[in-house]
Order: sequence, then structure tokens, then C-alpha cells
Amino acid sequence: MICALCKHGEVRPGSVMVSLRRGETLVVVKDVPADVCENCGEYYLDSRTAARLYEQAEAAVERHAEVEILRFAA
Ligand SMILES: [Zn+2]
Repeated sequence: MICALCKHGEVRPGSVMVSLRRGETLVVVKDVPADVCENCGEYYLDSRTAARLYEQAEAAVERHAEVEILRFAA
């Protein structure tokens, strides 16, 4: 698959670190499985992974963390 952003790089399976900000809370999730562009670094999450990521981020927001670093749990 060719990257939709740069229209140049090849997208390959890998993992990324995703940071999400919501109000005062910054959540960083490591080791998120994603398809990553080898040219520009843009990543694509499948819908199940994205849903799981938001659940984990939401839990950190509910704990009122300011900064939370998590490892992705499938
Ligand atoms: Zn790209």
C-alpha cells in the first residue's frame, strides 16, 4: 500500500508511539500496532486498535493524570 499522505512511501506493518491530548491530560501510548509509512512516518491504525487506544486514553483522563505513559494493551 502507498501512503495516502505523501503518496510516495510504502506503508508497512510496525508499531508507533501515539500521543493524545484531552484538556489537561496528555496520554502517550507506546507500542501501538500500526501500518507505518517508511518515507514520512505517517501511521494508520485499524479501527479496532483505534477504539482500544481511545479506551485506554479515556481511562487516564478519568484518573485525572496530567501526563500518563502507557504501553498499548490489545
Ligand atoms: Zn508517507
